[in-house]
Amino acid sequence: MKFSQLFTKTLREAPTDETAINAQLLIRGGFVFKNSAGIYSYLPLGWRVLSKIANVIREEINAIGGQELFMSALVEKKYMEPTGRWNLDVGYFAKGLGEEEASFVMGWSHEEVLTAISARYISSYKDLPFSAYQIQTKFRHEARAKSGLLRGREFMMKDLYSFHASQESLNEYYEKAKNAYLKIFNRCGLKAVYTLAAGGIFTDKFTHEFQVVADVGEDTIYVNEDKNEAINKEVFDERGLKHLGWKKEDLVEKKSIEVGNIFDQGTKYSEALGLYFTDEGGDKKPVIMGAYGIGLGRIMATVVEVSSDDKGIIWPENIAPFRVHLITLNEQNSELRITNYANKIYEDLIKNNVEVLYDDREDKAPGEKFADADLIGCPIRLVVSKKTLEKDSVELKHRNKKELELVALSDIKNRL
Ligand code: ATP
Ligand code: MG
Repeated sequence: MKFSQLFTKTLREAPTDETAINAQLLIRGGFVFKNSAGIYSYLPLGWRVLSKIANVIREEINAIGGQELFMSALVEKKYMEPTGRWNLDVGYFAKGLGEEEASFVMGWSHEEVLTAISARYISSYKDLPFSAYQIQTKFRHEARAKSGLLRGREFMMKDLYSFHASQESLNEYYEKAKNAYLKIFNRCGLKAVYTLAAGGIFTDKFTHEFQVVADVGEDTIYVNEDKNEAINKEVFDERGLKHLGWKKEDLVEKKSIEVGNIFDQGTKYSEALGLYFTDEGGDKKPVIMGAYGIGLGRIMATVVEVSSDDKGIIWPENIAPFRVHLITLNEQNSELRITNYANKIYEDLIKNNVEVLYDDREDKAPGEKFADADLIGCPIRLVVSKKTLEKDSVELKHRNKKELELVALSDIKNRL
C-alpha cells in the first residue's frame, strides 16, 4: 500500500474526549474513527489488524473442530423470553416505526439462537458432540463506555458454543478450548493468565477468564506466579481458594483486562429452548453446553495498551497492519535515483509476499515520516536515502529496538 493513496491521515493530537491510550493512539494513527461514545468504525489500517486477529482465531478454533457460521444480529423476543434474558438491561431493543413495542433485541450473545438452530438437527447421542462459532458484531448497553475500544457498545466477538451428551465430553472440550485460547492470545502477542471467575449473568458455576495484566484493566486478579494462573477478585473467597487448593498468601494482586472467557453452561439453555437428545439407553436428556467468547477489538486495544510507547504503537508481528514501513528521504525530490530504488524495493517486497506500507509522500518532511512510522507501529522500518544509497544499502530498524543497521540492497530479501 502506498501511503499517498491511503485516504486516512494521521493526527498530531489525540481527541480530548478520549482518555484511554488505546483509543488515542488508534484514532491518531488512522486505525479507527470514533462515531459515538463506545462506537467505532474500523478504517483500512485498523481493519487489517482486526482481520488478522480474526484469522488467528479462525485457525485455532477450526483446529479444535469449531464449525464457522453466521447468525442473525436481530434476535426475536421468542428466543430470549424462555431463558429470562429478554428484559435484561444489556440489550438495545429494536422496534419498527409504527410498532408500539420492540419485538427484537440487537444480539448481545447468541446462546438462544444457536440452541434453537441445533434443536432442529440434534436428536440422538450420535449427533453429539459438536461445536460451532461465529465472528459477529455484538450490541450492548455498556454503562461505562470510557475505556476506548476495550469496552464498546458495539464490538466484534468470536462466540463459540459446544454441545455434549455428557459432562466428561464437555470437560474434555473445555480443556481443548482453553489450550486453543492460550495459543490465540500468544499469537496475538499477549500474555494471558488463565483465571478462575464467576459467571455473571450467564451461569452460577465457576467460569474461566483469560486476563492480561495491565494497569488500566477494570478487573482485579490474584496471580499465582508459579502456575501463571489467577483467581478473580469476585471469587477470591474461601470457596474459590478451596476449589484451586491455593493459599491467599501465595498470590499477588494485579489489575487486568479480560480478553476472553469460557463457560460451562450446563443445561440452562437446552432445557429452556427444547434441545434434547436420546441417549444410548433410549432416555431423553437435555444437551450440555459450553460457551467461549473472545473480543476482537478488545484484543486489539489491549495490545495497544501493553505494547506502545510515547511515540505510538508497537505491533506484534502477527497482527501488524503491515510488516514493513518503507520510507524515502528525498527532500524536494532531488534524487530520482532514490525514488527509483525505493519503488523497486517496494515491488520486490510485494512480489515476495512481504506486506509493506510505502511512505512515498513527496510533500512530507523526514521528521513527519518518522513520526508516522512510529505512531503506526509496523515491526520493521526501512529507510532509503542519499546516504544509504551511497553504500548500496537501506537502513533497517525494528520498532521495538533502538539500533539502526545498514542492510545491503542485495540482502533485503533474505533479511525479510
Ligand atoms: P466484561 O466483564 O468485560 O463486561 P463479559 O463478561 O460481559 O465481559 P462476555 O459477554 O462473555 O464478556 O464476552 C466475551 C468477550 O467479549 C469478553 O471476554 C471480551 O473480550 C469481549 N467483550 C465483552 N464486552 C465487551 C465490550 N463491551 N467491548 C469490547 N469487547 C467486549
Ligand atoms: Mg459485560
